[in-house]
Amino acid sequence: MRDNQRSSALMSGPMDDTQLLRYSRHILLAEFGVDAQQRFAESHALIVGIGGLGNPVAQFLAAAGVGTLTLVDADRVALTNLQRQILFDTAAVGKAKVDAAGTRLAAVNPEVRVVTVPTRVALGELSLLAAAADVIIDCSDNFATRHAVNRACVAAKKPLVSGAAIRFDGQIAVFDSRDPANPCYHCLFGEGDEFEETRCATMGVFAPLVGIVGATQAAEALKLLAPAGRSLAGRLLLLDALAMEWREVRVIKDPACPVCGPRVRS
Ligand SMILES: [Zn+2]
Repeated sequence: MRDNQRSSALMSGPMDDTQLLRYSRHILLAEFGVDAQQRFAESHALIVGIGGLGNPVAQFLAAAGVGTLTLVDADRVALTNLQRQILFDTAAVGKAKVDAAGTRLAAVNPEVRVVTVPTRVALGELSLLAAAADVIIDCSDNFATRHAVNRACVAAKKPLVSGAAIRFDGQIAVFDSRDPANPCYHCLFGEGDEFEETRCATMGVFAPLVGIVGATQAAEALKLLAPAGRSLAGRLLLLDALAMEWREVRVIKDPACPVCGPRVRS
């Protein structure tokens, strides 16, 4: 794990004039104001996966002044990533994704502390990372990681912003286990279900789709941190980008869920 700032976060006190100017367009929003901006500065977001979704999520959260971002990804930048992973340029090919992203994010907003985890993380470490964060954004590309992230979030009682994008199809949901009435990811997608794992490497992915889904995840994360508005908790948004049609599906808590159900010992 690496940390770009050894000293404490730069925005621990009241905002100075430069910060008020930098964040003025958020501060001007009646639903945010100075208070929400201060909360962003004091917040810690954990982003799991710095690919097509993690790129725009990290970029928007850094630009918005979320004080600490922890980036988890074991991959290196490949030429095939550049079609949609907009934090990376051609010179970054071969570099660790978390390092290439960290360099770009420091240029976007040097006030943000970026912690990088360039390894695969097991459930135990994920649980520690989730417990230290205020919001977790799942930008991974496989069911095993999504289920592990969900378990960590339920155990830590932290809100999870989930996203997925493949071909022209996108999904976004929030699983907020701070309220035990809310469903978790496992309530929606059981591990026993025989899902065909569909990956960008074999199926293709429409480049702007990851931007749309990632920007929507960033929006939900900022709303949760502010806090402002109504989150997507208990709702799943489905996007067909080919027809440009959105659908919303209600997600119901599974009383027998082995992750968040009443028989799970906390
Ligand atoms: Zn559940």
